[in-house]
Amino acid sequence: MTTKQQPELPQRTIALVAHDHKKQELLDWAEYNRGTLAQHNLIATGTTGRLLAERLDLPVARLLSGPLGGDQQVGALIATGQVDLLVFFWDPLSPQPHDPDVKALMRLATVWNTPMAWNRSTADYLVSSPLFGAEYEPTRPDFAAHDTRSMPA
Ligand code: PGA
Repeated sequence: MTTKQQPELPQRTIALVAHDHKKQELLDWAEYNRGTLAQHNLIATGTTGRLLAERLDLPVARLLSGPLGGDQQVGALIATGQVDLLVFFWDPLSPQPHDPDVKALMRLATVWNTPMAWNRSTADYLVSSPLFGAEYEPTRPDFAAHDTRSMPA
């Protein structure tokens, strides 16, 4: 008797970031979704990653702390196609010393058509989407024309 093989689910790389006043919310969200998150690769900015690893008891690859370059590292990973989903609970009510880095990260995620969630409801929608667990790959924009553009004299 042959057993029917289940199709293997894609393993995604999920980048997680939360500003200080949003960390509790991200931890609660992540705990609620632990079963889903456990099937994927998790990366996070420094402090967010430490707290997530403690709360979830799952491996989380930690980058630098956000204000010290971690947001830029996430942006670089997005630009090089190494992040499948960005979950970034940012704080709209507190000034951030690294606001330019936050904007740069949001910009790069938009440039590269990376799925991104800025709040809990969107994060819920994304990880529960049938496309998230399917062989769906978002279109990666082709910027070849940018590299070969002519320069003004
Ligand atoms: P942190 O960084 O996880 O190191 O606190 C998050 C951020 O503020 O970008």
